[in-house]
Amino acid sequence: MTRRPATIAASARPSPHAPGAIVPPLFASDTYCWEDADTKPPFDYSRTVNPNRAMLAEALAELERAAGGIVTGSGQSAALLALLPLETGARVVAPHDCYGGTYRLLAGFADRGRIDLAFVDMTDPAAYRAALETETALVWFESPSNPLMRVTDIAARAAEAKAAGARTIADNTLLTPCRQRPLELGCDLVLHSTTKAINGHADLFGGALLAADPALVEELDWWANAAGLNGSAHDAWQTLRGLRTLPLRIDRQEESARRIAAFLSGHEGIETVHYPDIGFMLSFVPRGPATLILARLELISLASSLGGFATLVCVPATMTHRGMPPEAQAEAGIAPDLLRLSVGLEEADDLIADLARALG
Ligand SMILES: *Cc1c(COP(=O)(O)O)cnc(C)c1O
Repeated sequence: MTRRPATIAASARPSPHAPGAIVPPLFASDTYCWEDADTKPPFDYSRTVNPNRAMLAEALAELERAAGGIVTGSGQSAALLALLPLETGARVVAPHDCYGGTYRLLAGFADRGRIDLAFVDMTDPAAYRAALETETALVWFESPSNPLMRVTDIAARAAEAKAAGARTIADNTLLTPCRQRPLELGCDLVLHSTTKAINGHADLFGGALLAADPALVEELDWWANAAGLNGSAHDAWQTLRGLRTLPLRIDRQEESARRIAAFLSGHEGIETVHYPDIGFMLSFVPRGPATLILARLELISLASSLGGFATLVCVPATMTHRGMPPEAQAEAGIAPDLLRLSVGLEEADDLIADLARALG
């Protein structure tokens, strides 16, 4: 039976070591005893395998309809994990307006000749097709894109990538499996920064890389262990706690984001609003100086990160996307005074009042 997200997130996951416990215990032990030296126990060393990571991976895999996945120490270590199996010089096609940290990692690899990288506008079918004419190992999707909230037709693009023989990955951090399931849209891999909405409480770092094919899960598991990219037991335990309320939080945050987008769209002090009508993220360009608005906000805090309980505003050009050179920002359409909002759990009326006052 296919269970719905709220049921998956809230279900107790009893551990065989603590029968009946509604909350799984934290397995802090770094190592486990062997019965004899020839019989490897299911859990032996915590970098390799840990019950808390396994429980979180299982819940995330069910949410994303994946065969399984790897829980990593951060979203970026999940991105690194996706790149590790590539041959040296393999071609990667990625969105020109991807998350700043993804841009930095891919560009860093390309600069040292580890990969052959092409950034493309994923919303331009002709440019995308042209990029795939050269043999490609991996196609990276991020939709809606961050910070411009551009929507890519993942199903159509993934089918083209597959036909060209490329592996596909989607960063689903912004929508979460409550709103989009990239594996069902034909992707091979789905990536999360669980630091964001999945944990939702802004108090840890984590990531996940999930795959549709069990053989690919096994391959990634090997690399994560080899490179030491797995996350901590404590973070996995706490992330599962945050995950319990994910579907509720997404409903509420999305409802508020929709209302805020409508308010900003109708405000004379705003030039453009980017809201894809789904999710808790939006961005906008004010007519007046952004610095003045930021200085006047009281409830909304100026900080990077997204998806948590607190509403945060940021200036992508100098904050989240500073790893992207100014020319690349201009190319991607990231204006210096573009503001990005991650809508949290405060009352929407209070958030709108804060924005209204700041916009004067
Ligand atoms: C934050 C973020 C990442 C990186 O995750 P970390 O947990 O900060 O390493 C990757 N992709 C997107 C879309 C993000 O917002």
